[in-house]
Amino acid sequence: MKSSIFERMEAHDYEQIYFCQDRTFGLKAIIVIHDTTLGPAMGGMRLWPYETEEEALTDALRLARGMTYKNAAAGIPYGGGKGVIISDPKRGKNEGMFRVLGRFIERLGGLYLTGVDVGTTVEDMDIIRAETRHVVTVSEAWGGPGDTSSVTAHGVFQGICACLEEVYGNPQPEGRTIAVQGVGGVGRALVHALVEAGANVTVADVNQQHVEAVTTLYPQIQVVSPEDIHRLAGDVYSPCALGAVLNDQTLPALRCKIICGGANNQLAEEHHGEMLAERGIVYAPDFIVNAGGIIVGAESLSHGGFHPQRALKQVERIYQTMRNVLSYAQEQQIPTHQAAASLAEQRLAMIQQVQHLSVNNN
Ligand code: NAD
Repeated sequence: MKSSIFERMEAHDYEQIYFCQDRTFGLKAIIVIHDTTLGPAMGGMRLWPYETEEEALTDALRLARGMTYKNAAAGIPYGGGKGVIISDPKRGKNEGMFRVLGRFIERLGGLYLTGVDVGTTVEDMDIIRAETRHVVTVSEAWGGPGDTSSVTAHGVFQGICACLEEVYGNPQPEGRTIAVQGVGGVGRALVHALVEAGANVTVADVNQQHVEAVTTLYPQIQVVSPEDIHRLAGDVYSPCALGAVLNDQTLPALRCKIICGGANNQLAEEHHGEMLAERGIVYAPDFIVNAGGIIVGAESLSHGGFHPQRALKQVERIYQTMRNVLSYAQEQQIPTHQAAASLAEQRLAMIQQVQHLSVNNN
């Protein structure tokens, strides 16, 4: 029997769900607030042609909870939340839809801060910004960071260095063989950083133009088919395209020592993280190393406005966060994805304790 909405909220202690509807502009959106222990809920707005409302709600619930962990592990003062719009990214967008959504977000009074996600763009966020200031990843014109792919790549690069240090006692990518799956916004910026650092890079993408964009710039880059990229023997496999790429089919074929990439939700199931640990492959949990975008989004709201250099320094903390995850996993003899979740939960518990004490002192 299917669980009721309240049963599903109770299962992972979700705080609130908002359903937003506007007939004129065809807006159907769901905003989920998972946990505001650390501060207002921050998480992007996904626009996707969900086949059913049920599918959209399930995705929003899953993504909002994921943001609680990501934000907690990133050390930023924001809780976890997420929005989804049921629409088609190619045909279903219009200015009115985002303006109305901006008004709904404004009504929440800062409880939820939105940003770019799959299916939405910086331009869409700029439209929302006309109605509410509770939006990050707006363009430079609005004092924001604009497209966050390159800062996300910068964080993934830090994660790769931290894992190389773990495996080889040397964080430098120079001379290492690194396979990058997907050279869109994040993958392309990562490839630039890796090639500049002297790594031997192989790429794969289903979009030939994206492949050419990197090989034109760096002719020394090798290219393989998208079906083969995860099979390459080498130091690092960096998934920067789709989720669920670490699954029953791909795992037996892996021949890398480290997995560290920008794609969200790389583990198809929890037990795939355990299987990687059993095989001695160092896995960098995605929500640890791809937090660059959210760190910069949070930074853009800090006092004095957005400072690119200060933001980059914050993103560089991902190196130490990843080192902490690896040490904790080693100490507790647990897989890295469990170590990362546990460190995030410890930060949430610590802040809850602080809040409890301050209430008693009043
Ligand atoms: P993007 O759409 O710009 O790039 C994705 C690339 O993957 C495209 O070039 C696409 O052609 C390619 N691709 C799709 N299917 C593929 C396949 N089967 N094999 C190989 N390549 C394939 O997206 P992006 O912004 O670069 O994000 C990449 C991943 O990182 C996504 O999972 C995204 O959710 C995640 N992420 C992005 C950010 C950010 O700031 N952009 C932040 C956190 C996480």
